Amino acid sequence: MGRFPLRGFLIAVGVIALVVFVATQSGARNHSNVVSYSTFQQQLENGQVRSIRIRNTQLQVTPKSGDAYVTYLPTPPSDLSPFTNRGVDVQALPPATNWGNVVVYAVPILLMVALLFYLLRGARGGGDGAVSFGKSRARLVTEENTNVLFRDVAGVEEAKNDLTEVVEFLKNPAKFHALGARIPHGVLMVGPPGSGKTHLAKAVAGEAKVPFFSISGSDFVEMFVGVGAARVRDLFETAKKNAPCIVFIDEIDAVGRRRGLSVNGGNDEREQTLNALLVEMDGFETQHDIIIMAATNRPDVLDPALLRPGRFDRQVVVDAPDVRGREMILGIHARGKPLSSTVDLHRVAVRTPGFVGADLENLLNEAALVAARNDRREITMVDIDEAADRVVMGPERRSRVINDREKRVTAFHEAGHALAADLLEHADPVHKITIVPRGRALGYVMQFPEEDRMSASRNMLLDRVAVALAGRATEQLVFDDVTTGAQNDFEQATQIARRMVTRWGMSPTVGHVALSSSADSYLGEVEGARSYSEETARLVDIEVKAIVEEQYARISDLITAHRDELQRVVDVLLERETLHADEFAMLLRGEELPPEPPPLSTEAPRSKGPAAAGKGSADAPQEPRLPPGMLPKPG
Ligand code: ADP
Ligand code: MG
Ligand code: ZN
Repeated sequence: MGRFPLRGFLIAVGVIALVVFVATQSGARNHSNVVSYSTFQQQLENGQVRSIRIRNTQLQVTPKSGDAYVTYLPTPPSDLSPFTNRGVDVQALPPATNWGNVVVYAVPILLMVALLFYLLRGARGGGDGAVSFGKSRARLVTEENTNVLFRDVAGVEEAKNDLTEVVEFLKNPAKFHALGARIPHGVLMVGPPGSGKTHLAKAVAGEAKVPFFSISGSDFVEMFVGVGAARVRDLFETAKKNAPCIVFIDEIDAVGRRRGLSVNGGNDEREQTLNALLVEMDGFETQHDIIIMAATNRPDVLDPALLRPGRFDRQVVVDAPDVRGREMILGIHARGKPLSSTVDLHRVAVRTPGFVGADLENLLNEAALVAARNDRREITMVDIDEAADRVVMGPERRSRVINDREKRVTAFHEAGHALAADLLEHADPVHKITIVPRGRALGYVMQFPEEDRMSASRNMLLDRVAVALAGRATEQLVFDDVTTGAQNDFEQATQIARRMVTRWGMSPTVGHVALSSSADSYLGEVEGARSYSEETARLVDIEVKAIVEEQYARISDLITAHRDELQRVVDVLLERETLHADEFAMLLRGEELPPEPPPLSTEAPRSKGPAAAGKGSADAPQEPRLPPGMLPKPG
């Protein structure tokens, strides 16, 4: 329980210690002179007792000679005659409250009640105790906090243009009311994760200088039915008091999923919450100057009722940035970071296709970390290069022990990919080849297109399949044996081939039909029932296999015909471990490479290849995933 304060805990311990102390003290009854009952009885029979004061079971005895003492009866005496009969002066005192006992019994109960209170507070999830049960957890971020402006967001110009109107309205709602204009109440931002949806919503609030209430869709979904709906009502209540303002519901798909489709019999809580949201959105038509923004990367699962006119009728696409956008985003996040004059952000942008804003921010941060590790004052291109590899592939693993044979196989495998990429007309050019293990990969070839592409032709796709298969083909050719290193290659080749058949109508046998949904790449495959027959499924499998095998045969022949080039590349790769595009091109032309530059001047320090024997890791050596964006987007 993170909420249980340490101070409270210490107080509880202190109180318990005190209780124990008091209890033991009262148990000792604090009288020095206690005498056993039999001794007292002896004295009584001998007539030596002068007077007794009785309080409950306690007898305070004054003997005729000697000091007063105390003794105890097992039960309070009901009959005083045994004492009075012997001429003793008996005085019965009213029973005193035993404070020790009271404390012993009452304090633990109080402590338990307090503990229960704390636990209940935690279970309710309410930040502010029992009172705020059901209140929304929207955080009020006022204009002071939202210092994000449009100039801090780049690469999403269309979205910014769409939102300018919203900003104008929030700045001066009266102007729009005077003209009788109806302003969209709900703006839904749609785009892949990390493309800047949340960032953009904050920028709108920052530009308009209005309060910004942000809540995440998952905050509505609670353990108790009805809480989410209460939160929605409360959120809008707060917003109405603060109008004009922005209500931002992040990750709205958590609450706005299509109703009544749930496999596990529906989720009453979520449906109630969604219903409350719909009602509230209808509730304040024109009289309130509130703009509701929401963000999601799964627009396909949203309930259609949310998207109908009057609700989220304005959709703004916040897509992954193109190369110019990436350069601008890099520029934004490079502010406050000392870049060396050699750094060319355009080149960085070119080599990071598919990166979204969050990736680029992360890239520059990694570069700064790498630079710091190398004790540099400025971030250099080498640091950024290393950071990009790190972001895509995971950190370099130079310590990993690779035996000589494994290294040779890897060198041929990667050289095969690279050679294929060079020989095939429609393949993307090679950017870098390396056999330094990184993440789970033994080595990799990076290819980057010369420009961003929104679509791919059939020939490009076939070449891509061939390049992916080239590693395995080369192994088979050179060693007459194969390794597990091609797992990812096959996955990639198969995926492309399958999409060609089921999605892009590129198989003559299957024809021009779309067999799988187009909710693609960044949205993830949509789970759902297959909507075609068993027979078609078989046909698809046959077609996919045919494409892959055909390309495998084609690339095998091509590499056989270029064995010399392959050997030249492998020889240098084994020695240097990494080849850049220009070095690779020189090798293919049959030129000598200039000697390797001394370490640290342009390259990070590099230990020569770890050549000790023995398997390094239990991982199946795996080919890396390609950087995002290498697969074409649906056109
Ligand atoms: P989303 O909500 O779309 O998943 P975020 O808005 O949370 O993504 O983006 C995460 C971070 O990445 C932001 O805080 C911002 O610093 C950076 N970022 C993302 N997209 C952009 C962009 N287009 N321009 C500038 N920074 C961006
Ligand atoms: Mg977000
Ligand atoms: Zn491979």
